[in-house]
Amino acid sequence: MPPKIFLDSSHPISEKTIDSDALKVIHRLKRHGYSAYLVGGGVRDLLLNIPPKDFDIATSAKPDEIRALFRNCLLIGKRFRLAHIRFGNKVLEVSTFRAGQTKDANFITNDNEFGTEEEDAMRRDFTINGLLYDPEEHAIIDYVKGLKDIENRILRTIGNPTIRFCQDPVRMIRLIKFQARIDFSIEEETQKALKENIEEILKSSPDRILGELFKILETKVSSKFFKLMDEYGFTHLLFPQLANSLDVASKEQTHQFLQLADQQEIHQPEKNVLLACFLFPLLERKIQTAYLDQDKMPHLGEIYSLTKDLIRDTLVAPFPRFPRWMRETIAFILNAQYRFTPLDPNKKNRKFKMMGHKKFPLALRFLGLRSFVDDRCAREYSKFRRINNRNKI
Ligand code: ATP
Ligand code: MG
Repeated sequence: MPPKIFLDSSHPISEKTIDSDALKVIHRLKRHGYSAYLVGGGVRDLLLNIPPKDFDIATSAKPDEIRALFRNCLLIGKRFRLAHIRFGNKVLEVSTFRAGQTKDANFITNDNEFGTEEEDAMRRDFTINGLLYDPEEHAIIDYVKGLKDIENRILRTIGNPTIRFCQDPVRMIRLIKFQARIDFSIEEETQKALKENIEEILKSSPDRILGELFKILETKVSSKFFKLMDEYGFTHLLFPQLANSLDVASKEQTHQFLQLADQQEIHQPEKNVLLACFLFPLLERKIQTAYLDQDKMPHLGEIYSLTKDLIRDTLVAPFPRFPRWMRETIAFILNAQYRFTPLDPNKKNRKFKMMGHKKFPLALRFLGLRSFVDDRCAREYSKFRRINNRNKI
């Protein structure tokens, strides 16, 4: 099917908002006779007037042909080779048009063959992510009726939603990521297929799921996103131990922390701090039942041991390759709280020992979240921030 082409009078993308290096790459590819477009999330975000996180490029040039044109180019990936073109700290991803399965419901996707630009658009997940933009012609090339869905604020899979979710269940997580982030409504068939195929997510690789979840934790919509995860039943499937242990009160506390973290203007979201939002209410409850209810006061070593068990059961059991440095950082953040505000209020706090630690600022950030809901934390937080700032000077 020929695409619909929208020229500049019919869309709001202006060249000024596109990364100049991405434009250079596209121009160079085109000058050498290849076709090349801006694709995916970058085009979607430009249309929504959101600054894009990345500017991905798709082209008819094969990986070796791309490499021949750019000195600063590295080919990555074994199955499907992509080109990474580096400009200082920035990396632009350039991929050759790829064919994908849209009709076959087999779980195993055959996503590693070169294809046409139409096939490349059709293999993408949602119509809003399937647009191509040609900056030389100022034209949007639309094979998937994506522009209309953006205008009507609708999330819809490209092709049959059941098939597309079964081929790659991570798309369901991506769907609710977009719902949380841009607040579009989900088209009826897509919604139905989502509800009917939730359990398919268990067939996806835990590493890919974790990759998507980590990306979401960096976008200031974690509270909305995890509410949706709960509502659709993903939390129970993906984090069974966490879902079973969070009672109503702990869940509310977690959401309150997440909301506060999402609203923090000064800080980029920090995934370890956000994950601590889930585990802290659980740790508090564990300490309560294992010690305080029995008139015992745990020492810091015992709290550390409870923390390690908690991280193992809730995060590492479902995601065995959950990075070790993150486990250690989360444990540090959680344990530091009992130095800032010891369980025994008569005890002097033991924070000075950890001030030089490189993870200390993250622990302080979490104390900052607690300070919104607890006066004692607020006092400690302001005291501590003062000392911390003074030490920085
Ligand atoms: P974000 O803004 O979070 O980066 P994105 O849509 O750009 O969102 P990426 O992971 O950067 O997500 O992927 C870039 C593009 O690749 C998407 O816009 C989409 O067209 C395509 N894509 C990503 N994941 C899938 C998938 N699981 N199935 C099909 N297409 C996908
Ligand atoms: Mg992206």
